[in-house]
Parts: sequence; C-alpha cells; structure tokens
Amino acid sequence: MKRSLEQSFYRNAYFLLQHLRGRPVGRYIKHLQARERLERDAFERLITTELAAMLRYARATVPWYASGEWGRRITPSAAVQLQSWPVLDRHTIRAHGRELLARTSALGLFYRNSSASTGEPVRVAWSPRAAAWGWANEYRAMLWHGVPAGARTLLMWGSRHRLVQDGMRNCRGFSTRELTTERLEQAARYLLDHRPDMCMGLPSALTALADHVRARHPEAPRSLVPVAKVGGEQVFPFQRDYLATRLGARVVEFYGCTEVGPIAAQCPQGSLHIMSDNVYVEICRNDEPVRAGEFGDIVVTAMRNRAMPLIRCKIGDSGRISPEPCRCGRPQPVLAELVGRAADLLVAADGTKVHGSVLGAALQSLVAQLPAGVLRQVLFQQLDTLHWKILVESDGADATLDARLTQLVRGTFGAPCQVRIERVATIPRESSGKFRYYRTADRPDARSQDSRARRRAS
Ligand SMILES: [Zn+2]
Repeated sequence: MKRSLEQSFYRNAYFLLQHLRGRPVGRYIKHLQARERLERDAFERLITTELAAMLRYARATVPWYASGEWGRRITPSAAVQLQSWPVLDRHTIRAHGRELLARTSALGLFYRNSSASTGEPVRVAWSPRAAAWGWANEYRAMLWHGVPAGARTLLMWGSRHRLVQDGMRNCRGFSTRELTTERLEQAARYLLDHRPDMCMGLPSALTALADHVRARHPEAPRSLVPVAKVGGEQVFPFQRDYLATRLGARVVEFYGCTEVGPIAAQCPQGSLHIMSDNVYVEICRNDEPVRAGEFGDIVVTAMRNRAMPLIRCKIGDSGRISPEPCRCGRPQPVLAELVGRAADLLVAADGTKVHGSVLGAALQSLVAQLPAGVLRQVLFQQLDTLHWKILVESDGADATLDARLTQLVRGTFGAPCQVRIERVATIPRESSGKFRYYRTADRPDARSQDSRARRRAS
C-alpha cells in the first residue's frame, strides 16, 4: 500500500472511532487550523473571550471555587479577572479533587494520573471533549511539520503498550520502563524494517535507541526517520544532536502535563508555541504575574476541560514567555525558556544550589566525544553534599570514561566531591518509564518511586 494511502486509511479509521466515542478529534483539528490563520490581535481577543467564559463557568459550577479563600476572593462579578484567582498547587488538587469537580454532567468522565515525578500522583478528571481538544492540538502541531495523523509511528513511551490500540493508530509502541538491549534491538529492527514516518517518545529513550542503532547496525542508512517528536522529560541539547546525527531526524519538542494536557509545541522555526487554544499560560513569581519577558513559575489554566476546570495551577516548571512573536507568523505566544521541575535542585560542595538540568547540559560535551555504544545511559545520584554515586549502563569498565564522569561532577559541583561509579545492566526508571539523569538520593519521593518501580518489576 502506498504510504499516503496507508496514512489516510489509519487517519479516517481513527477519527471515526474517536467520533463514535464522543471525541471529535478530526473536526477539532480543522477548527484549530482555521483559528491559527487569524491575525494575532483577533486570535488574542478570541482567547480572552474564551478564558472569561471558562472562568465564569468554573466559578458557577465548581464547589471549591465558591468556598474558602477562593469564595472570598472570586466574587461572581470578579470571576472574569484571572488575577483575582488564588494560585492552585498540586497539593490542593490532590487533597480536594472531589470539590474541584464541576457539578455539571459527568458523562464519559475519566481520570488521568500524573507520573508522580514529584511526589504523590495527581488525579485529574477529564471530559471526552477536553481529551479530544488535547489530541487535536498535538496532531495540528505535527501538521506544521508535514506529519499527518495516521502516519506510521514508532513510540517509546510509558510502561505498557496495548497492541490493538497502538495498531489502530498505525503505531508500534515499546515500553521505556527497562530499556534492555533486547528491547532496543526490537525497536531498532522496527526502525530498519518498517521505516516509520515519525518516532515519538521520551528523549532519553529515543537517544538510547539512536545510540543502539549506530553501535549495532553500522550499515544502516544515515537517515532513518524524518521526524522525532519528543516530550515528557526535559529535552537536552545533546539529545537533539543525537537524534539529528544518528537518526537523521528533525526534532520536534512538545511540552505538556497531566493537569492540562498539551501546553506547547515547536514550530518549524524552532519556537515553542503555547497552545493557547488548550491552555492559558502565565508566568508568576510569588503567585503574582511577572512583567512581559521575565522568568518565573509556569501557571496554567485549562481552557477546555469542563469536568475539572483547573484555574491558575502551578505545575512546578519555570519559564519565560517571549515578548516578541515568532517569525513563522503563527499567532500563539512563544515559550522562550523552559526549565523542568523547580524541586530538582542539587547542592554544590560550597552549599550553593544547582538545578539538576545543569548535569544534562554538561553531558553534552562528554557524549559528543564518545563513539556510539560506549555510554548507553547514566544516572547521577547525590547521596549528600560531598558524595555522589553514578550508575552507568555500558559494556565493561572504562577508566577514561570513569575519569571523565568524575571530572564532570567535580567541575559542576566542586573539586571536593567524592564520586563512586557503578556499572549496571539497566538503570531502573521511574514507574512511568521516564528517565532522569540525576536524582537526590535523600528525597523521600525519589525513594518511594524506586521502591514502586522495583515492586512492579518484580
Ligand atoms: Zn513559530
């Protein structure tokens, strides 16, 4: 079957099925495409109007917003003023999930759980239509890159895959819970034999796949897949380089979270556009909005989810909204900087706090010097201020690599740091299958995740 016929077959089947489930994804994609052709001013007015409608709806239907601090601050007449709303945190969502449900119809309502990369998971109720808006936003953004719904896809994400569901989306999924050599080889074979239109998943997993392919299949063509859609973890520059040079893929970054679904997606010019049709983003410091272009906490308001309308929810990431529009002409604002979880702070030998993502960035230069297959995966664990343990997935000992890893820690966190290196067959991932290059060993939730991961694995 010709590839374009294959794509439209899967696309039509998928849209029909979702339509029957009350999730009109195909229709929403067309709607979103029409909206993004608007001039910027007209687009902003549309979003402002929709935001006000959402705020009125939330105030009128959600018990939590009519009581306590919310009830005092958001009188029905002040409801349309977003900044009169207190900022919600994950703790409140966890503790008061029921009171955050709208009193309106619960037809088809379902729950999504966060992956608990910071503490207890968060449960968020979704309406089928809100889910459809989220997917439509993602498919629409892939159309910016010429990848239609129904495109043949290699997926490396999460801990379990359902063959039938994946198959209906023309997708072949591989769990990222434990990226064994065997699993990487299965994914590599799919890549080589089926030549998908896109690979999609966690950047750490796709990077491991890219490394595996080049190490085990040196005869493979230079360009193996045109597009790599990445998200779910912070995306480091060395991973982009890997995917570009080792898979020949154009890297498209997505950013989202369980609370509100997709938040931003990269356009062909490389800007991370906020999906304003799905979520309203503010940047705040001490729960107050910062001036345009300044850095701060990312605070999101769900624009479509009427089952559990989350208004001004602080999700733990930080960033900056560019005061300038993107050259591509799309009307959505641009997230100019994005840094993962504010809680991911490590400590240098002199006591200063260092964001863990610095390690991911430092890996860039190290990885660039290594041939494929030498360093499959690495996890930096800070045991205390001066003690580090590094888990390395690689074949056999390598004194030069050890010296470089030790130097990387000392260069970033200070010369007095003591570093111990352990070689393992596979580094355990979080229960979601996500991977972090660093971890503070004394963080209680990190420990509980470890034990959860081990329990599931056993
Ligand atoms: Zn753009």
